[in-house]
Amino acid sequence: TKVLLNNRIVDLKSANVNILDRGYQFGDGVYEVVRFYDHAYFELEAHLIRLKESCEKINIPFKMHLKKLESDLVYLMNTCDYSTGYVYIQITRGVMDRNHIYRDQLDLKPQLVAYTVKEEKRPLKLMEQGITVHVTDDIRWLLCDIKSLNLLGSVLAKNKAHEKGAKEAVLHRDGIITEGSSTNVFIVKDGTLYTHPANNLILNGITRRVIIDIAKKEGIPIKETAFTIDEFLNADEAFTSSTTAEIMPIVSVLLDEKTYALGTGKRGVITQKIQDAYSDLIAKIPQN
Ligand code: PLP
Repeated sequence: TKVLLNNRIVDLKSANVNILDRGYQFGDGVYEVVRFYDHAYFELEAHLIRLKESCEKINIPFKMHLKKLESDLVYLMNTCDYSTGYVYIQITRGVMDRNHIYRDQLDLKPQLVAYTVKEEKRPLKLMEQGITVHVTDDIRWLLCDIKSLNLLGSVLAKNKAHEKGAKEAVLHRDGIITEGSSTNVFIVKDGTLYTHPANNLILNGITRRVIIDIAKKEGIPIKETAFTIDEFLNADEAFTSSTTAEIMPIVSVLLDEKTYALGTGKRGVITQKIQDAYSDLIAKIPQN
């Protein structure tokens, strides 16, 4: 495995980071995950723009040229011996003596690390069968639009879901569904698609944006309007979306030790239509 360390490609073994890196001490940094299929990145530019925006929102200066970073990441992808996988990219604020205050540290240099991971196959079977989710409190902070390295809220929620045999945690704030622990959440009711508006309470997923575009093209009414737990349980269809798990039907829901079937308990027709359109986009990715 090769690693992109700032602007150098190095072997994993020699890709060491300083323990005083603020990413390690404070989770002071941001990240991205970008899929590649058959040697081509999907929505790379959108992910890199979001990476830059995440940096800017927490005052990490982002001085790289996106095109240069893009070509470094393409180079990195081409060093691996598999054609399908994803790249993990993180940027931390840099290395300094441990201190919450970073503002007087003019010599802080942001540190970028990126490496690729092999993805066995697209989760096609699960994408047809659907998954069970566990509904739980959204205990995260109020800047969820930043793709922050601080993932404890998501880690705890996902583990609780896993303990209960569910694949994903669906989070709510005071009864309003926000998103999943590492996914966005959509429902279908009476032919209309609903998802939480892109504000500070969710990460505006790149997959979410692609789905909204697909819905517009396919003539499926789409409302960026939040819904309640009750509306979620009574939806005709529901699914999660993310770069790695793509579009995953939700077919049953665990809540307060009870299990509810979602819709018919099977993948819905609108969900499938969106999955198909998404697969078409993947099949047509321009070569980087
Ligand atoms: N919401 C959260 C909290 C996430 O962590 C993620 C992805 O990791 C998503 C949504 C989906 O975002 P994307 O579609 O860009 O992968």
